Amino acid sequence: MTQPAERINKLPAYLFAEVDRKVREAVSRGVDVIRLGIGDPDQPTPDFIIKKMQEEAAKPRNHSYPPDDGLKEFKEAVSRYYEKRHGVSLDPEEEVAPLLGSKEGVAHISACYVDTGDVNLVPDPGYPVYGIGTMFAGGRAAAMPLREEKGFYPDFGAIDGEDLKKAKLLFLNYPNNPTGTVATPEFFREAVDFAAKHGITICHDAAYTEITFDGEKPLSILETPGAKEVCVEFGSLSKPFNMTGWRLGYAVGKGEAVKLLRRYKSNIDSGVFKAIQYTGAEALTHEETPVFLDFLRNMYRGRRDVVVRGLKDLGWAVKPPRGTFYVWAPVPPGHTSASFVSHVLEKTGVVLTPGRGFGLYGEGYFRIALTVGEERLKEAFRRMQEAGITYPG
Ligand SMILES: *Cc1c(COP(=O)(O)O)cnc(C)c1O
Repeated sequence: MTQPAERINKLPAYLFAEVDRKVREAVSRGVDVIRLGIGDPDQPTPDFIIKKMQEEAAKPRNHSYPPDDGLKEFKEAVSRYYEKRHGVSLDPEEEVAPLLGSKEGVAHISACYVDTGDVNLVPDPGYPVYGIGTMFAGGRAAAMPLREEKGFYPDFGAIDGEDLKKAKLLFLNYPNNPTGTVATPEFFREAVDFAAKHGITICHDAAYTEITFDGEKPLSILETPGAKEVCVEFGSLSKPFNMTGWRLGYAVGKGEAVKLLRRYKSNIDSGVFKAIQYTGAEALTHEETPVFLDFLRNMYRGRRDVVVRGLKDLGWAVKPPRGTFYVWAPVPPGHTSASFVSHVLEKTGVVLTPGRGFGLYGEGYFRIALTVGEERLKEAFRRMQEAGITYPG
């Protein structure tokens, strides 16, 4: 018998399996399930992007392998976008690499830097891929708790001294999934100084960079003076352009990291379909893009307000998140995140995500994804009200 590899055996048990089973069961009973679990936009990719893709897909010159280092046009578009949006200048040839979605990049960066026994510092609660990529590379992920009383920022002073000595990469993600927190220039300043002092490279996952509210300006960590020496930032077209299925993202910043990633990837995948890279270039720089992004932010802000209001009416005091399309809230006393999510599903047919799925420090919380329309969100809260689901205060 051929044994599967340790790295596969070590993958964490799928924490949502129990929820998934209950959802399937509810669906088969004919329950009208409202899915506020998964963070996958419900809206289609905008027309101007689809039109460009139709043209590019039809061109025979796009049907061959793309260049290993990525298409010049895409890299230049990313660079122009950073200049315009963040005032950051990037050398398209040295400091930009296309990715098959940002998930792929945050997973593979560990293979470029981590040897057996090395440590990566990862936020908890956080996107599970940072830790899994670390483990696949033979390293160990050390959790940096994101505590509510610390504003959901890591406390760099609390990192274990031994972990710090062995640390290679430090993962950050703002606007933050799952907490909805946005970064401040001061926090990024502190992070960059900390990384420089300890010889650590920051991997900033900026998947939600365009999704901010209330006048909050999308912030790149590369806006911090000196950040390009120690930071690689991962961006994605998935969330800002409703393109999760297309698989297009980029790594920018620290030239060494960008080049190592390209080199690693050239031995694994053969890049992103040229038609998708040309289309991505258009999406980032098209004249309709700012208008579309305003529309998108307004849509999520409207949904956010429905959810914050709905929670408030049930007794929760939740601060409106200033970024992402998630609302993060505590479970009522007496519940674990899993038991609360099961309870809500059974009583109302509303699917939430248990905080424990994002790490130990996610226990005690649940996440609502704003990926259904306002009417359905209102319906979800009507059902919770009727089922007597409240937060005692
Ligand atoms: C959705 C998401 C991603 C993945 O984005 P892709 O570009 O589609 O791979 C990365 N990081 C976080 C935190 C996400 O929520």
